[in-house]
Order: sequence, then C-alpha cells, then structure tokens
Amino acid sequence: MMSTDDFSVTEHVELTHKAGCNLNDPSLVKTLCEQATDAKGWIEAQIGQGFNLKNNTQGYWYTGGGAGFFAALKQKIYEHPNIELMESYTVFKLLSDNGCQGALAVSSGETFAIQANATVLATGGYAGIYTRHDNPGNPVGAGISLALEAGSIVRDMEFVQFYPLGLAEPSLPTFMAFRPFPREAKVINIRAESVTEKYLDTDDLNEAIGTHRDKFSQAIEAEEQHGPVKLDLTNVNWDHLDHWFSLQFLTRYNFPWQTQPAIISPIAHHTMGGIAVDEFGRTSVKNLYAVGEVASGLHGANRLGSNSLTECLVFGKCVGVHAAEQKSPTVNEINFSKNFTSEKRPGSENLEKLQQACWKHLGLSRHASGLKTMRSVLESLEVQKNSRLESAHQIAVLVALFAEKRKESRGAHFRSDFPNLSDQQNHSLFVEKRDGNIVFVKSPESKSS
Ligand SMILES: Cc1cc2nc3c(=O)[nH]c(=O)nc-3n(C[C@H](O)[C@H](O)[C@H](O)COP(=O)(O)OP(=O)(O)OC[C@H]3O[C@@H](n4cnc5c(N)ncnc54)[C@H](O)[C@@H]3O)c2cc1C
Repeated sequence: MMSTDDFSVTEHVELTHKAGCNLNDPSLVKTLCEQATDAKGWIEAQIGQGFNLKNNTQGYWYTGGGAGFFAALKQKIYEHPNIELMESYTVFKLLSDNGCQGALAVSSGETFAIQANATVLATGGYAGIYTRHDNPGNPVGAGISLALEAGSIVRDMEFVQFYPLGLAEPSLPTFMAFRPFPREAKVINIRAESVTEKYLDTDDLNEAIGTHRDKFSQAIEAEEQHGPVKLDLTNVNWDHLDHWFSLQFLTRYNFPWQTQPAIISPIAHHTMGGIAVDEFGRTSVKNLYAVGEVASGLHGANRLGSNSLTECLVFGKCVGVHAAEQKSPTVNEINFSKNFTSEKRPGSENLEKLQQACWKHLGLSRHASGLKTMRSVLESLEVQKNSRLESAHQIAVLVALFAEKRKESRGAHFRSDFPNLSDQQNHSLFVEKRDGNIVFVKSPESKSS
C-alpha cells in the first residue's frame, strides 16, 4: 500500500526509524505507516473535508488541513449523539484501584468524579516545562504525571525536540517560523555567515530544518555565544508572496522582514517521551489508554516532521475502537457527582523558576554538572499539591533522571560530556513508581484487557 502517490509505506517506515535513531517501537511505526492512508480517508469521509497533503521531496506525510478542517471536526463532535463534551474541566487524579475506573476533575471550583469503563488520556506533551516553547496552553505533561501515579510505565522522557527557528525578537511573541522558505532565505550569524553552510554543509534552509533539526538547533546555540543569530529574508523576492504561506504568515506580525533580519533562537517544540503504549494505545494499567503526544514509543529518539497529526489520527481511531469495546461489570455508568470531597485542587503557580532551570540544564545540551545542579533546583523548589507546578516538577524530575541515565548523544538528546552514540544504549528506557520512588524497569507489560 502506498502512503501517497510518491511515498511508499516502506519509505515512511524507514524515515520514521531513521529520525528516531532506532528507538522507535517497530509495531507502532508499522501501524502508523500502514494505516495512515485509511485513517486519513476515514476522517475526511466523516468530516466531509480534506487534509492538505505536503507532497515534498523529503517524504513528509500530510499536515493539518487548517482552520476549516478543525472547525468542521469540532462541529461534528458537538452534533454527535454519543459524545457529551465537558469543556473547562481539569483532571487532577485518575481513579485507579485494580485498573483505571475514571478520573477526578475540577471545574469552576467544584470537584467531580467521572467513572468510566475505559479512560483515554490525550493531554499532550511537556514542552511547557521550558522557558521558550511554541505549544499553545503551556502543556506540562499533566497526563504523564497522572498515569505515573496510577501505576503506568513511562518511557524515553529525555527526548525533547527543539525547533531551530523560534522568533526571539523582543518586539514579537515567541512562535515558530515554519518552512518551506524560498531558496534565498538564510540563517546568519553575527558575521553574516550562513549557519547551515558552516555547520551542516548545506545552503538549503528547508533541508536543514527538515532533516537536521537537532544539529541545526545546536549550531544556533553555539553561534549565540558570539551574538544574535538571525533569519535573513532580505534577499527573498517578495513579489512572489502568494507562493509562500510561510512568508504570508510572518507578515501577520509587525516587523520589517523585507529589510531587516530577525533574531531567532531554538524553541522546545515537541516531546517524544511519555506513557508507554501498545498499538491499541493500551498502557500498563488496565482500562487506561493514552494517545497523541502524551503517549510514547512511536517517535523514538526524535520525531519525523509531520508524523504527529498522523499519529493522532491513526492511534486515535485504534484507541477509540478498542476502548469502546471495554465492558467492565464492576464499573458504573458515567456519573458526575458534584462536590466530591477533596482538599486537592489544581492551582496555577508561577512556573518561571522551574522553566528557566529546565531551559538551562535540560535544554538542547545536557552535561553531568548541569544535571546535578538541576537536581538541587528540583529539591529546593516548593511545590503545592495538585498544581500545574507539581506536574511540571514531576516531569522535570523524569527528564533529568532519563537524561542522566542516557550517557550518550542520540536523536534529540545531546550530552556534551558524551557526544557520541553508544552501542550499549541502543534501547529505550522505562520507569514506573514503586512505593513513591521512581525506578527504572525493563520494559512494559500491557495489563489492559
Ligand atoms: C506550532 C506547532 C506546529 C505544529 N505543526 C505540526 C505539523 O505541521 N504536523 C504535525 O504532524 N504536527 C505538528 N505539530 C505537532 C502536533 O500539533 C502535536 O503533536 C499534536 O497537536 C498533539 O496533539 P494532542 O492531542 O496529543 O495534544 P494537544 O493538542 O496538546 O491537546 C491536549 C489537550 O489536553 C488538554 N489537557 C491537558 N491536561 C489536561 C488535564 N489535566 N485535564 C483536562 N484536559 C487537559 C489540553 O488543554 C489540550 O486541550 C505542531 C506543533 C506545534 C506546537
């Protein structure tokens, strides 16, 4: 089966494993690549609208279909008779006793118990533990913390993808400048030298962003020691603006792009670590599922660009079908019991100190001494129970532990004191919580039915 007319399943599998430095779970990769076309067709048929295909020569899969697609999807969800939406609820605990039986959530100061035969976590990743990131809503890996507390196995937390071209102009918000750019676009250092030519042996900015995302980010960080690094679009022919959505997007921001290079710096963009799952999204806790960026195993040590939305589609469908089949005689119908007693409420503490420490010590480049400092920062931080800070803190502890354990550089994880790949570490790392302590374990064993 072909993934697109000019991009085969075999190529998609190979590229995904190559990007993930062979830490990907082969069964997840196989499922993704074999089912991508069908899942895309299925969702398009449901919604009555198509995705935009990104048919470029690097073999990337399709990207989001834009606002229209998501508006239509949302409308479909609102109209579906079997879906009851509970918006503005924050889940702060999973009900887990011999498997997962639902969750506790808070909304407008009230706490609710939601019982369920099957619980699916789709709470996103943890790029929000870093000062500079481009994820909407500041995600701090809440779902991963909840699942860990409930007994789930968590994997590969050291792997955080940084995107090289994050805007860092003081007058502009932090956002990603996405490709493709016209050929004349360059990233330049303080001496106006091309950073891609100097470090990556290519003058093709699109190739550098597509295939060398981690090395390109490290190159920018190295150049920043001497002065700001800039995206230079001054040689681009702006008469052809209608061909380049990337440029049209930039012009929404008030900056003289045509005459002045703009300061850029890497940003945390995507997180590969998370809850260990199988191809049905089953976690190691019975009746608990995970899908999307909260789940881990598909991308290995780094994510192939554009595989995430495909992941959400393919595994969203697998998980939905499987979870819907779960019938547990011990669990009641979904039931909202108002004012469920709990002193624990999610708060909204200032995460700044933690984010800065994560940026400095768990960012693009890690080193034993920085990881040691990080540990003392984490120990000294006062954390309020069931707050966003508690989730962020738990995730930072995990990233630090995994980064310490992986004494090599692989994919998105770079250790300046261990800059090479190690054959001995050609495997994923897994943890679980036992008696309140995080311990490394061999590999997950699915306990879901
Ligand atoms: C700027 C940008 C551009 C990207 N471009 C692409 C692209 O072109 N192609 C591609 O494939 N991927 C792309 N990605 C990656 C992709 O968008 C994400 O990986 C994907 O959207 C993750 O989806 P998700 O459903 O797992 O998580 P999210 O979309 O993050 O959704 C998680 C949801 O869970 C909610 N939530 C979290 N915690 C709780 C809680 N405790 N209780 C209740 N709700 C909670 C959040 O509020 C949020 O609504 C991009 C990402 C970014 C940031």
